[in-house]
Amino acid sequence: MSAEEVAVPFELAGVSVAPGRRTVVEMPAAQLYTNTPLNIPVHVVHGRRPGPVLLVCAAIHGDELNGVEIIRRVLQSQSLRNLRGTLVAVPVVNVFGFIHKSRYLPDRRDLNRCFPGSETGSLGARMAWLFKNQILDRCTHAIDLHTGAVYRSNLPQIRANLDSSATAEMAQAFGVPLILNSVLRDGTLREVAEAQNIPVITYEAGEALRFDEASIRAGVRGVINVMRHLSMVAPARKPHPLVEPSVARSSLWVRAERDGVFRSLVALGDRIKKDQLLGRISSPFSSDEMQILAPCAGILVGRDNLPLVNEGEALFHIARFEEVKEVAEQVQAFAADILEGVTLGTSTEPPIAP
Ligand SMILES: [Zn+2]
Repeated sequence: MSAEEVAVPFELAGVSVAPGRRTVVEMPAAQLYTNTPLNIPVHVVHGRRPGPVLLVCAAIHGDELNGVEIIRRVLQSQSLRNLRGTLVAVPVVNVFGFIHKSRYLPDRRDLNRCFPGSETGSLGARMAWLFKNQILDRCTHAIDLHTGAVYRSNLPQIRANLDSSATAEMAQAFGVPLILNSVLRDGTLREVAEAQNIPVITYEAGEALRFDEASIRAGVRGVINVMRHLSMVAPARKPHPLVEPSVARSSLWVRAERDGVFRSLVALGDRIKKDQLLGRISSPFSSDEMQILAPCAGILVGRDNLPLVNEGEALFHIARFEEVKEVAEQVQAFAADILEGVTLGTSTEPPIAP
């Protein structure tokens, strides 16, 4: 091994991690009014050989839990044994929200609208500033793990700005069937990462405050796939069937046109035909009933799970594709593959991705 192939120690938040070592850096985030320090734990796995520094973070919305489990499983993966580069994994970014099972911070701000933040601003701005300066700035690539909101689930999907070729390659490499080319929202981690030329993708899967095994497995596999793409880990010995991700042309939400009790007749991943009956809204106090018809063809990528809805509420998220039939087949095949051999409802832990 030549001198330039040996990594130097990795510095993060004042802690130095030697090549070939892993550690948990406790980054002080706040002091609670109970005088209790509140830290953001950051796992650093530093390879012996230099390479990319990949940030994988979850629960920037404190109630979005699938990513927390994805990171736990990634950190146990055998793939990390001979790592090239560095994995910086933050299972819980919004530690305040996580404690309270809430998306938000105690001042009701959304941390993922506070970036890049400032040293002297609101609680959210200060946390965003700390995270950006101490962690994001140390990384070369990023994956941000999310779920749908409470009572709303997402089919596993990647959201990314595909104008950047490095970002588009990461989005493809993740290996879930659907990619939404999404415009960056003000103040998101993704926006600030893009602004400093850090290729970044968002993985959206499942529902807040719930574990969804398929979403978790797809996420673990996706993170490892991206690490393979970046040559941080070795290629798979037994590659999974190739998924050709499809990029949605656009997507739209179908909203409730009245208040009432909502029943869905379609499931996530279903192929939707134009004018198809998607669900009904009825009243428990009268015989009134309203049908909800699909305004366009596509794939159902997000859905409301709560039967009680108000007028205007988002019920169905439909992504539109050029070749809907082919995409639907890919989605079905992927769903069957990802849960192969798993008996849901048992205590059997699925094997860690090789
Ligand atoms: Zn989120």
